[in-house]
Amino acid sequence: AEFIAPRLKRVRPSPTAAVADRVRALQLQGIAVISLGQGELDFDTPDYIKQAGIEAIQHGETKYTAVGGSAALKSAIIGKFSRDNDLVYRPEEIIAGTGAKQLIFNALLATLSEGQQVIIPAPYWVSYPDMVALADGKAITVPCLEQDGWKLTPAALKAAITPKTRWLILNSPSNPTGALYSRQELEALAAVLLDAPQVLVLADDIYEPLCYDGEVFATLAQAEPLLKQRTLTVNGLSKSFSMTGWRLGYAGGPAWLIGAMEILQSQSTSNPSTISQAAGIAALKQPAPFLPGWLMQLTNRRRRVMSLIEQVAGLSAATPPAAFYIFVNCKDLIGKRTAGGKLIDSDQALADYLVEQGQVATLPGSAFGMPGYLRIAYAIDDQLLDIACQRIAEACRALK
Ligand code: PLP
Repeated sequence: AEFIAPRLKRVRPSPTAAVADRVRALQLQGIAVISLGQGELDFDTPDYIKQAGIEAIQHGETKYTAVGGSAALKSAIIGKFSRDNDLVYRPEEIIAGTGAKQLIFNALLATLSEGQQVIIPAPYWVSYPDMVALADGKAITVPCLEQDGWKLTPAALKAAITPKTRWLILNSPSNPTGALYSRQELEALAAVLLDAPQVLVLADDIYEPLCYDGEVFATLAQAEPLLKQRTLTVNGLSKSFSMTGWRLGYAGGPAWLIGAMEILQSQSTSNPSTISQAAGIAALKQPAPFLPGWLMQLTNRRRRVMSLIEQVAGLSAATPPAAFYIFVNCKDLIGKRTAGGKLIDSDQALADYLVEQGQVATLPGSAFGMPGYLRIAYAIDDQLLDIACQRIAEACRALK
């Protein structure tokens, strides 16, 4: 342990990865745990996208490309931003990387110095605060309220900004809440940001297409073009094309920032997989034909979980408009006891109990900076989802 660098002591292992490991370990012991913890869709990567990857291998597209992505991929990304988001970028304002995660990490590492602050609305994606800490910055978490739909208000943003603020991270649709900012809400946040020229904005749009019931996605640089010069718009293939394992993300932003991220990437991982880039071109160059079918299935699953929540005393949530997560209030179950007499004294204890008693894995809200909740991901097969819901209901009803 004396060999571990001090900077690593600021970081905790990803709680989502820890749950995945635990589920795998139990499954190896023959215990059929159903995981509602994973942050990925169970759908297969669409065939025409796979085929583009296979053809790349067959045609010998298996060598290095430009660090920030091939010219053909950048042109597909530029086309996507212009088609879907009214954002016009030049190639030097675009970078592709090994997942959105790497791009977010590189953006923070390239810009933060000791003590600079990053505003992170809570509940937040687990990796943001740890990435900020690794980059010597200071995470300023701003709690958002369930009754505000888990969204940052302009007043709360204004109160959090200081001369030391370097970034605001805005994730819509949100992991873990499924919240979605409307264009008007983004405009209202933008009005605050226009008065704070020291602040860059990282818009994490990775769940963009997963909006239900006709909800319309918007992104900050589109809602307020004056902010485009200090906004990094991050997106990726993982969630929207069910391509988590291909590791391909991309971002658009000011050339000075993209250039700095590219230097960092050139000295660490170099280009994202050339094969994944070929698949990415196929994915991004046209609107996704499979999307309506996926959205229908996901809406149906969301309804199944919402009906569970409505049936179980002690659980509550409003129907989230986007992504594939429900952030469930479980405060009324905290303080109860199991049939064996064990006290459920936290959301973590409840999540542990649900694994032991119900063999269903969820994630405690505390992992996302908001104790008193459970995050349920409904990205699994309908039948398994129904079994998982029944088990949660039975386990919760057994608490006294
Ligand atoms: N941003 C958010 C909000 C996420 O939930 C995730 C994945 O869980 C990522 C970024 C990372 O995506 P990628 O697979 O592109 O690295």
